[in-house]
Amino acid sequence: MAGFRPLGRALIAAMLASLAACARAPHPAPPRAESCLAALRAAGLGVEPWDAPTAGACRVEAPVRLARTRLALSRPLETSCALASAWLRYEEELGRLARRVTGRELVAIEHAGSHACRPMTGNAGRASLHARALALDVVAFRLSDGSRIAVEEHWRDRGPAGRFLRAAAELACRHFAMVLTPDSDRWHRDHFHFDLGPFSRCDA
Ligand SMILES: [Zn+2]
Repeated sequence: MAGFRPLGRALIAAMLASLAACARAPHPAPPRAESCLAALRAAGLGVEPWDAPTAGACRVEAPVRLARTRLALSRPLETSCALASAWLRYEEELGRLARRVTGRELVAIEHAGSHACRPMTGNAGRASLHARALALDVVAFRLSDGSRIAVEEHWRDRGPAGRFLRAAAELACRHFAMVLTPDSDRWHRDHFHFDLGPFSRCDA
């Protein structure tokens, strides 16, 4: 038995050495942000940097600025890479949905911004997902024939505009954790709110 003792001590010493090495090694940056940015650039979108806060309650992880997506945007979208990626996946299906329901191409999105350093609407005690650019407010959609489908005007419309909006909200529930609509509360009577959680809710 005595013969095993030096081996035991050597093993313990090796383990301690490797633990010490672990403790000294700097924590590697999470690969998520970098791979998200790489995927956006690979999609051929004009991704520009954006001078977002990097610390505090309104910090944005992997901030990106898109002058347009595959669609025209009413104004550049300054958001997080995570939100932009979810939006792009959604947008692709949304184009097909618009074609099917309205017979027109979806060409532009009117949005009311992603990043806003403020508390949650209707709940001042909690930070909004907009504070971290993990949310997006969408006001209206424009089609190839020049028509405009607006959440405020058409949510309860019985024609194709209303059908498109309700189906667009339903589709959004597959891409975002939370989807708020005019059915949610009075703060959302004129726009859709999409966010990436942690809470989930689908008011389609
Ligand atoms: Zn919102």
